[in-house]
Amino acid sequence: MINEISKRRTFGIISHPDAGKTTLTEKLLLFGGAIQEAGAVKSNKIKKGATSDFMEIERQRGISVATSVLAFNYKDKKINILDTPGHKDFAEDTFRTLTAVDSVIVVIDVAKGVEEQTEKLVEVCRMRNIPMIVFINKLDREGKDAFDLLDEVEQKLGLKVTPLSFPIGMGFDFKGIYNIWEKNINLFTGESKTSIEDTIAFDDVNNPELEKLIGDQSAETLREELELVYEVYPEFDAQAYQKGELQPVFFGSALNNFGVRELLDCFIDIAPSPRPKNAEEREVKPNEDTFTGFVFKIHANMDPKHRDRLAFIKIVSGTFERNKPYLHVRNNKKLKFSSPNAFFAEKKEIVDVSYAGDIVGLHDTGNFKIGDTLTEGEQLNFKGIPSFSPEHFRYINNADPMKAKQLNKGIDQLMDEGVAQLFTLEMNGRKVIGTVGALQYEVIQYRLEHEYGAKCTYENFPVHKACWVEPEDPKNEEFAEFKRVKQKFLAKDKHDQLVFLADSPFSIEMMKQKYPTVKLHYVSEYK
Ligand code: GDP
Repeated sequence: MINEISKRRTFGIISHPDAGKTTLTEKLLLFGGAIQEAGAVKSNKIKKGATSDFMEIERQRGISVATSVLAFNYKDKKINILDTPGHKDFAEDTFRTLTAVDSVIVVIDVAKGVEEQTEKLVEVCRMRNIPMIVFINKLDREGKDAFDLLDEVEQKLGLKVTPLSFPIGMGFDFKGIYNIWEKNINLFTGESKTSIEDTIAFDDVNNPELEKLIGDQSAETLREELELVYEVYPEFDAQAYQKGELQPVFFGSALNNFGVRELLDCFIDIAPSPRPKNAEEREVKPNEDTFTGFVFKIHANMDPKHRDRLAFIKIVSGTFERNKPYLHVRNNKKLKFSSPNAFFAEKKEIVDVSYAGDIVGLHDTGNFKIGDTLTEGEQLNFKGIPSFSPEHFRYINNADPMKAKQLNKGIDQLMDEGVAQLFTLEMNGRKVIGTVGALQYEVIQYRLEHEYGAKCTYENFPVHKACWVEPEDPKNEEFAEFKRVKQKFLAKDKHDQLVFLADSPFSIEMMKQKYPTVKLHYVSEYK
């Protein structure tokens, strides 16, 4: 078992849309022999304009099932890539997926540099000390100077980088890549490649053969640049990388399959095998004998006639076995699963045993919520799936009085899936839906109608931010007054936690000053 676990590399690729995440994923799968040709991996991007938005959402949802987990074997490793939507309206989804990865690869477009979504996602990874490798993509195009880009990565992303490869020229003049990690050169022929090409070993860049290979000018520039690299950047340190303190950088072109093998070979050497995870009760280590795991994603069936859903479990420790009863800790109920799915490339198949680091998909009829823990009997609750304050807030109203039950059930289930956050106002029980992007309202409306036969309308509710409320003393007069004064703006979230729906930054500041013992947090998990 320990041997199996140490083979696992479970990671996510994060990027701003269009930086090349899908293309890179595909090339990684090609190396693993999991797909035979380029073009096989579908993009989970939301395409605007081509079709009406909800059709597009359904299309995207279909793809997202197929690409949730892409697993393949490479050399002696079992690699699990967890898919992360790049669209900002689905950022919550990505945040949650990041609780299930052991490391990430950050893809950056050489011309565009660090973009908005990259910043947000990297910040989340940085907060959790997730090991990150940076891949600078599209070197076949004209882009920013490599050193400038490394500076930008350090400054905008707050990282400490060290290049493990370095480009020779760029765009029209792109000649290839010097691999600092393996000490060899890979020449770029400018043709799209799908096979693994030869590299030229080169442990000494002062070797005059270099001139013959890339020309006098390029050889001189490369020597100078490498000298600067060795001077300015720290030597790579695997431990610092695994602690999230140092981020190695690779350059390449995913589309041309250039620099990808180098990335992958280094990745399997340095990336961590499954890491321990904190539960409220204790830290759980991957090689413990007994199984533990948690739900990080729930996917509803696309067919409204089959209401069952697929719950994605990250196995934290031990092995998950088919038909063995496991404890659903929140419900205090034993459950058995006769057809757990494992993932291989874009297929899923039923498996008997999966190991820590793996993801299994369990058919669920409504037992699971995101964040739920499964064990062999131990009372454990994994931490680390927080909700962030949504950006948009609207009342949701029932538009068909005959279908109130369907509406409530639909809302409940969609919230379990994590499509959006529900707040129930303390004063009158009205429901408010909070989302990261406006697109989610369409998703909810469309899915309520098509999957639950319920109709809803929305009404604006001007909220600036949701703040989770933590009174130092729930019994003191200050808290009682806070609740009296702000009663119109107080709600419960889905875990019955008290939330203050502040209408402006000003009112948050006011409350902090007036009621200093009432703490306001922007994240649901503040303890
Ligand atoms: P994603 O949104 O991050 O998944 O990006 P995609 O993988 O879909 O890539 C976005 C666009 O960039 C596509 O048109 C790709 O063909 C293109 N692309 C990806 N990698 C490269 C590359 O290395 N060079 C060039 N020139 N284009 C690339």
